[in-house]
Amino acid sequence: MDKKVTRIGVLTSGGDAPGMNAAIRAVVRTGIYNGLEVFGIMRGYQGLLENDIVKMESRSVANIIQRGGTILKTARCKIFHTAEGRQQAYDVLKGQGINGLVVIGGDGSFRGAVEFSREHDIPVIGIAGTIDKDIHGTDFTIGFDTAVNTAVEAIDKIRDTADAHDRLFIVEVMGRDAGYIALHSGIGTGAENILIPEHKTDIDNLISSLQEKERRKKLVNIIVVAEGEKYGGANEVARAVKERMPHIETRVCILGHIQRGGAPTSMDRLIASRMGYHAVECLLEGRHNVFVGILNNKMNYVPLDKVHKKKGIINDEWMKIVKILAS
Ligand code: ADP
Repeated sequence: MDKKVTRIGVLTSGGDAPGMNAAIRAVVRTGIYNGLEVFGIMRGYQGLLENDIVKMESRSVANIIQRGGTILKTARCKIFHTAEGRQQAYDVLKGQGINGLVVIGGDGSFRGAVEFSREHDIPVIGIAGTIDKDIHGTDFTIGFDTAVNTAVEAIDKIRDTADAHDRLFIVEVMGRDAGYIALHSGIGTGAENILIPEHKTDIDNLISSLQEKERRKKLVNIIVVAEGEKYGGANEVARAVKERMPHIETRVCILGHIQRGGAPTSMDRLIASRMGYHAVECLLEGRHNVFVGILNNKMNYVPLDKVHKKKGIINDEWMKIVKILAS
């Protein structure tokens, strides 16, 4: 298994995240610096199966660190779920002489990488690229900081109009399984309430807190709701509020895909550069089939087959802070 790695491939897979380009750049340039040949695999596992592979040079990744999206494009690939599909991918890599692979993606892409590395003798290193920050073993995932900052910018604007009209705004941010974007952007914008999938929404409690604020003449309120919130998301929460407080002007705003795009923040560029550099180091050092995370500001290498979604561990103190600061 621990044969010397000489030709490596890099791909982006699953949901895109701002900062993926910075990670590609780091992988390509660190690889070339170390005398490796580096290949860009287009459209994730799909492009791999189709042998859609391009040789990367140092100049191929010029002027991309500041760009959102991914120059390698990304895709979801059904066939890779099958052993036959993964065999086909292996045959392509063998044919190209590629003997090391870097996968930039979320936990789904890592699950694919685990299956692949169990069956075939090509080492894989994962880099966590997902705006949701829901992977255990890392304090950061590429794209999260940018998504939070995009949400903050949007919610600040919404607060201006909420303030001008004395309105209640219910803003839905991304996060199907995790409330981190809602929590960080909500605290950062002084949201009066934050509703996340990890905590059961107590609608009675929410209404009484709005009524209490109304009594104190606090009429401008922002509720930030993660899309995976269990009561039913922003529209359902708005319906419940309108039913119980029909005199309140309520508006819903779903931020949606703007949170995935845009120039990555300096934080995302930095962690993507560090992770990309260390992914190549892992391949060179024979530290195989791990994903590269950052924990307490140190690199943390987690075996890919131990990767799991970070679920339900929202610090209660954070919710207490929201409540106290929104008074
Ligand atoms: P993300 O990486 O953003 O979580 P997905 O969950 O869509 O995105 O996964 C991306 C791709 O990874 C899938 O389209 C598929 O090709 C591959 N993949 C995901 N789970 C598995 C699995 N259990 N076995 C094999 N391949 C998988």
